Amino acid sequence: MKTNKRYTVLLNHAESGCINDPVFDSDSITEVQNYINKSFEHSDGSDGYELVDNIAEKSIKFWDEKEMKSLRLDSIRSVIDRCKFCGLHKYRQNTVFGSGNPDAELMFIGEAPGYFEDKKGIPFVGSSGKLLDDAIEECLGCERHKFYITNIVKCRPLDNRNPNAIEIGACMPYLKKQIDIIRPNIIVTLGKIASQILLDTGKPMKEMRGKRFEYRLKDRVCTVIPVYHPSYILRNFETIDKWKIDFKKISYLIKGKK
Ligand code: SF4
Repeated sequence: MKTNKRYTVLLNHAESGCINDPVFDSDSITEVQNYINKSFEHSDGSDGYELVDNIAEKSIKFWDEKEMKSLRLDSIRSVIDRCKFCGLHKYRQNTVFGSGNPDAELMFIGEAPGYFEDKKGIPFVGSSGKLLDDAIEECLGCERHKFYITNIVKCRPLDNRNPNAIEIGACMPYLKKQIDIIRPNIIVTLGKIASQILLDTGKPMKEMRGKRFEYRLKDRVCTVIPVYHPSYILRNFETIDKWKIDFKKISYLIKGKK
């Protein structure tokens, strides 16, 4: 199994004796690594999540909250990289997990990776990503890295079709886990599919865009603002003014204005 940088740091902590857990009593770092690898062999990876969460909690004094969130997100990324829960895995070049600040107060959620995202493994690159970056800079006054950006499904549907119900159902647990870890106050859904899925509604975008809704996950309530998808704006450039108005509303929400 591939160990990413975060696990290497974790293993280093184990090696130096910083993590106070009986499983790390052994002097052998290989044993620790085997233990982690074995836990990730389970088909749905849930034991892997739990293991990393447990380790993170036990080493809490050595990690700040952002570091812990990053570690937990990395554990899901490792599972997604090998995920074959739906047919989309057959055609992907890369999974597109998400990128940005693991401690973000705002998450952008689109529907699925496109051609360039699949090539690079990063969400919202190419011309629609550029448009999104511009709107973030112009209306929210910062760069995309301040926020977290992801999609409902993590693998690209061929020919950029919409993901179907089976694919969405298979991938939603990953998104819920991301939201649960990041704990944003605000979620901006990009386009009809992401908005309808997250809000569990069949309403059209013209009824939802720019309005505030609630999304509940466990003990948490986030404010959701649906906006048009940037690729829709590229195809219908006359709507860009409405898009910017909606981004201004997001800006007011971040600043705590009505
Ligand atoms: S789209 Fe999601 S559920 Fe389907 S294979 Fe990719 S990561 Fe797994």
